[in-house]
Amino acid sequence: MNGTVRTTCPYCGVGCGVLAQPDGTIKGDPAHPANRGRLCSKGSALAETLDDSERLLHPVVEGTRASWDAALNLVAMRFRETIAAHGPDSIAFYVSGQCLTEDYYVANKLMKGFIGSGNIDTNSRLCMASSVAGHIRAFGADVVPGVYEDLEEAELVVLVGSNLAWCHPVLHARLQAARSARGTRVVVVDPRGTATSESADLHLAIAPGADVALFAGLLVHLDAAAAIDRAWVAAHATGLDEALSMAQETAPDLAHVASVTGLSPAEIARFYEWFATTERTVTVYSQGVNQSSAGTDKVNAILNCHLATGRIGRPGMGPFSVTGQPNAMGGREVGGLANQLAAHMRFDRPGDLDRVRRFWNAPTLATHPGLKAVELFEAVREGRVKALWIIATNPADSMPQVARVRRALSTCPFVVVSDCWPTDTTALAHVVLPAAGWGEKDGTVTNSERRISRQRRFREPPGEARPDWWMLAEVARRMGFADAFAWNSPAAVFREHATLSGFENGGTRSFDISALAASTDAEYEALESVRWPRPAGAAGGDRLFAHGNFPTADGRARFVPTRWRPPARLPDATFPMLLNTGRMRDQWHTMTRTGRVPRLMTHVGAPTAAFSPQDAVRLDVAEGALVRLRSPHGEAVLRAAITPAQRPGEVFVPMHWTDTFAGSGPVGRLVSAATDPISGQPELKATPVRAEPV
Ligand code: SF4
Repeated sequence: MNGTVRTTCPYCGVGCGVLAQPDGTIKGDPAHPANRGRLCSKGSALAETLDDSERLLHPVVEGTRASWDAALNLVAMRFRETIAAHGPDSIAFYVSGQCLTEDYYVANKLMKGFIGSGNIDTNSRLCMASSVAGHIRAFGADVVPGVYEDLEEAELVVLVGSNLAWCHPVLHARLQAARSARGTRVVVVDPRGTATSESADLHLAIAPGADVALFAGLLVHLDAAAAIDRAWVAAHATGLDEALSMAQETAPDLAHVASVTGLSPAEIARFYEWFATTERTVTVYSQGVNQSSAGTDKVNAILNCHLATGRIGRPGMGPFSVTGQPNAMGGREVGGLANQLAAHMRFDRPGDLDRVRRFWNAPTLATHPGLKAVELFEAVREGRVKALWIIATNPADSMPQVARVRRALSTCPFVVVSDCWPTDTTALAHVVLPAAGWGEKDGTVTNSERRISRQRRFREPPGEARPDWWMLAEVARRMGFADAFAWNSPAAVFREHATLSGFENGGTRSFDISALAASTDAEYEALESVRWPRPAGAAGGDRLFAHGNFPTADGRARFVPTRWRPPARLPDATFPMLLNTGRMRDQWHTMTRTGRVPRLMTHVGAPTAAFSPQDAVRLDVAEGALVRLRSPHGEAVLRAAITPAQRPGEVFVPMHWTDTFAGSGPVGRLVSAATDPISGQPELKATPVRAEPV
């Protein structure tokens, strides 16, 4: 490397700018608007992950090293044969929020455009699909209205189901700095006490799954307190009366909300009063909201309160979904979810199918949504999906009910996995393709505030590793689609993606980056981070919806009536506790990268099962004692951690550890695969379990 290279952290959705320096060190980019030079512990340790010793270096077919030509020819041939024998829906791709937008674009184009199936879904389904569905119901499109500065300009920040201090540390640091400067109040709504709730002005340790009741009750309170901005609502939204009526049914008074949420009427009343009387309010929501069988309703219950007060898209105001992965939003932009088309176009909107078909010159374009993640692996298990390509993700450890997923993979006739490191998923593949990783390839990612940033190459990929977009395009060419996959660089892929975003748009679709469609290779290389939209010939990139103009047919947002319902599966005599799962500060996903950095293991070196002191007494377990957790789906043995931060009757286990990194194996072996009926997102935070001393 000749000079410092500006790139972007590959971990979370904050999307911090990073400087890769010639001496091999990594530091925060002071010029990047997302982090202004800050990095968290994971980002600071990135240089220590650049170790090739355990990387996948060569294509492998049935356990034997193969040439790229042989491996790619085999993949193309098996896909062609499977389609010929069983139709396009017998093929599926399962991709990742770790993919760059260019990788995602090529995967989506190949599957939906040319294989002709909607069967491409992503591990982002496990992360923020409920926010996507909630946004579409309320706004007409999957749009996050606000920007990071709003957290600094707010007077009240409500964090719902978000341990921001550990999961989005740099954004949390920005919020904390703003609190010191202006005294911002923070409310945390989370069943657990966390590093985030420790410093909050109010921690609402809500019962799992009760968020709809809390926010329906808030809507009722806003009405009673005359805090609804009726002029704004009349001009920019519809459906308030129906939403209010449902809210009054499901959360008629404080006593009822208290009984559902497990909170005291006094603490609920304090939260409601702060929200009602604070104009500059931001509500941040994350996996605690999304990873629920009622996740979409939870999102809409929150959005209803911001629409009712007209607090959206103005400085220091708005609902704000923060995404877990570095490119969850970029994947959504290109159609990486099975129910999306491309560039925010939809299967169910007149004209969109024809538009994409003509743009891609793809007569076999899929005409209906494909299988969402949980359904997809069930279809593999049942033999309906017969060939699967998994890209940059490890579902053998990260999916709920992993035993079923592993059975599905081990019986699937043809499994391709492209990744950087060996995982429990590559172990089940017929073909393993070595992928270029962070710092070894070029592309873009979009963070939680719609900011597109470049990831840049600054080192050679090890062995024969290649970028995912290249592998996908090579397979497409070998399947007979050479003309449509003729790019020679990620810059060319990006130009096509940007052009499609503006194709026959006319301002009707929020996602429009056509101003970037004519970028030369040099301009793409030098691209400064930009927030979308960036339509050709117009300014963009600021907050959205302050003055309405929602991307619905009538330009108005929709209130969505929401009724509280409990988690899909409740504790009973056999499984009397509820299992919650989540992140640790210094680990990432199934630890394929962070688990190899010794200093990141010093924060939390092994998984534990966290219990309340009351449950520890009841179970007769001491701190550090071995405990067996059983659910209807499997069991795991972990060491007990006893903490008053845990509500009685609930147990928390980190999501990261796998068979590779600890004997307890993935927590997914315990977790139920119940899903939200609208978003398809699995309920990763509420599985009935039994705990017993070992
Ligand atoms: Fe990377 Fe997220 Fe940490 Fe920023 S906050 S350095 S994007 S992990």
